[in-house]
Amino acid sequence: MAAVSPPVFRFAPSPNGYLHLGHAYSALLNQQLARQSGGRLLLRIEDIDLGRCRPEFEATILEDLEWLGLEWETPVRRQSEHFADYAAALQRLKSLGLVYPSFMSRKEIDAAIQASEGRWPHDPLGAPQYPGSERELNADDLASRIASGEDHALRLDMVKALALAGNDLGWTEKAPAGQARITANPSAWGDVILARKDTPTSYHLSVTVDDALQGVTDVVRGMDLYHSTSIHRLLQQLLSLPEPVYHHHPLITAPDGPKLAKSAGSPSLRDMRKQGIRPQDIKRQLGF
Ligand code: GLU
Repeated sequence: MAAVSPPVFRFAPSPNGYLHLGHAYSALLNQQLARQSGGRLLLRIEDIDLGRCRPEFEATILEDLEWLGLEWETPVRRQSEHFADYAAALQRLKSLGLVYPSFMSRKEIDAAIQASEGRWPHDPLGAPQYPGSERELNADDLASRIASGEDHALRLDMVKALALAGNDLGWTEKAPAGQARITANPSAWGDVILARKDTPTSYHLSVTVDDALQGVTDVVRGMDLYHSTSIHRLLQQLLSLPEPVYHHHPLITAPDGPKLAKSAGSPSLRDMRKQGIRPQDIKRQLGF
C-alpha cells in the first residue's frame, strides 16, 4: 500500500513590519493543527514587495517566532529568491492568451470610473474594479509603448480565464465544527493584477505558485484573505495545480475593537517581548 504523505501547513508572513498578536495566533494555530494531524510546518517569507520589505523586519520575525516556540522546517522559502518561478507561471498564462498589459495609474482608473454613469462594481475589499479599458489595445501602440519602457502591470482577462476554467470552482473550507464546500467567485475581483508595475509578480500569483511548489495541503490563514481564495482557486485551475484545503480563522481583535494591524499602532510581539511579557502569557491570551 502506498504511504500516505503527511499534511503540509505553512505560515507566510510579509516582512514589511513587525509581527503582532494576530500573526502569533495564525502561526500558533498552524503549528497546533500540524501537530494534531502529524503534519509538517513550513515558514515562507513573502517579500515580493521590495520597496516595503526589509531584512531587519525578517530577522525580527524569525526571532519572534522562535521566542513564541514555533518550530518550522528549513530552508525557509524567501519569495524574492524565486521570481523565475512566478515568471514561468505567468508565461503559461500568457500562452493561454489570458494576460494583457495595463498602463493606467490608480488616478486614471479613478477618473475613468468617475466619468461613468450608474453604480460601479467594487471588489471584495471595497476598491472599484478596474474598468478593463486596456483589454483590446491596438497591437502596434502596445508594442511601441512597451518598447519605449512605459511602466505597466499585467492583468488577468477574467472573462477569458473563467471561460477556460469553468464556472464551478470552489474550495473546501475547514472549520472546527466541520467542513463546507464554498463556491468561488473570482469575477468579483475583475481583471486582477498578476504582475505589478514595481515587481514582476503579485501576491495572488506568488502565493498560488508557492503553495503548489511547496506541496502545501492545508492553507490556514486569516479571514481577511477569504475572498482571495477565489482567485487562488482560479489560478490553480488554469495552471493545473493541486487544490489545498483552506481554513480561514477569525481575526484577533484588539480589546477596543478594530482588527489588529501594524498600521493601527497595536503593540508588536517585539515590544511585548521587550516589556517582559512571556510567550506563555501570549499563548494563554490567544487560547493555546
Ligand atoms: N503574506 C500574507 C500576509 O502576511 C499572508 C499570505 C497567506 O497566508 O496566504 O498577510
